[in-house]
Amino acid sequence: MKSEIIGVGTELLLGQIANTNAQWISKELAHYGISVYFHSAVGDNIDRVEKTFEQAADRSDIVFVTGGLGPTEDDLTRDAASRLFQAELIEDIQSLANIEGYFAKNNRRMTENNRKQALVLNGGRVLANEEGMAPGQLYHYKDTLFVFLPGVPSEMKRLMTEQVFPYLVHNYQLESEIKSEMLRFIGIGESQLEHDLQDLISSQSNPTIAPLAGEGDVAIRLTASGANAAELLASLKTEILERVGAHYFGSDSITIEEAVQDILVQKGLKAGAAESLTGGKFIEKLISLKGASAVCEGGFVVYTPDAKKSILQVPADIIDSYGTVSEQCAAKMAENAQKLLNIDIAISFTGVAGPTESEGHQPGLVYIGLKAKDAPASVSRYYFDGSRDKIRGRAVVKGYELLFHYLKKII
Ligand code: ATP
Repeated sequence: MKSEIIGVGTELLLGQIANTNAQWISKELAHYGISVYFHSAVGDNIDRVEKTFEQAADRSDIVFVTGGLGPTEDDLTRDAASRLFQAELIEDIQSLANIEGYFAKNNRRMTENNRKQALVLNGGRVLANEEGMAPGQLYHYKDTLFVFLPGVPSEMKRLMTEQVFPYLVHNYQLESEIKSEMLRFIGIGESQLEHDLQDLISSQSNPTIAPLAGEGDVAIRLTASGANAAELLASLKTEILERVGAHYFGSDSITIEEAVQDILVQKGLKAGAAESLTGGKFIEKLISLKGASAVCEGGFVVYTPDAKKSILQVPADIIDSYGTVSEQCAAKMAENAQKLLNIDIAISFTGVAGPTESEGHQPGLVYIGLKAKDAPASVSRYYFDGSRDKIRGRAVVKGYELLFHYLKKII
């Protein structure tokens, strides 16, 4: 079963909105074994919309169209379809009643152009829109099924979930299930990961394995199909984790800070930070998570030597003897943050974000300290490449990686 998705609307072409409708529909179709061959976007121009539909009808079994069903002049989906299919537009009584009801409920006056939204293709099947005004529609043209959906994502999703998928399951011989899982790793490069899984990647068929690089972490997407998709997926996952499980922090949409939060919750621990070059970025990520108060006490942003001394009580002789960009300063920052916040574990960041050198050190040199309640502080030293922003961002991700591994060990 070949399908494609067309987004109608000049907003999409101008970059004013992203085509999240196509993204969502594609993901959902995967569950039903319907392959998506093309995504396209077309502006509000009747000739081009018609041409796009015509091309889609020639190459796809099912065409999902979102947008352009509204009341205004530039909502042209139904006119373009009517022209191509040579199907008359007729007023759908039920949809008109729905639109009138919508205006009455919201105490607004219905204007004449709103009637346009009740126009449907003669010979099609109307999909009542419970969330909004314009109904969706199914229409068979030659050998292709066209599915017309409103552009508003919540309306589109509800129509797809409640009406379109049940229709497809009932009327088409859909393949058995497709399952996919994204495994996420940190502290291992994409090339190393591929190297370690080379034989599995080159012999892949079902499940398929697709490596994806992210900013700081890497992921691989496993996709299995068939009646036993779930078992196939689970067994490949086990095999992969036997090799590179030390770097695995979770699946699907989880982030490394969420993985850290999960462990802190499981263990009933509280964390905090003392940050110099990262300027609060580390703690900001933790606090932006729901439920942060259970795992995060707070943090210090101590950028200058004076702030490190006065706020975080780093002794002057440490700074005078070793400088602020030093193992000793990082250790003291972590120790004092742990003590002052009275928490289970503290992390510290000190280094040179650049672009110029500092205390005789090149940009990119970063020390990250960790101090748990009943253990001595440990400090790791790194050189990160890139701009000031990149160096600060990489330090934060590395901090989460260190904390994640540390917390896993003490479990
Ligand atoms: P309705 O008649 O239900 O209001 P419509 O079919 O006329 O919707 P449009 O006018 O094209 O849809 O779009 C309405 C809004 O829906 C847009 O302003 C935008 O916010 C959102 N939208 C449209 N297309 C997409 C898309 N492909 N992905 C994400 N959002 C979209």
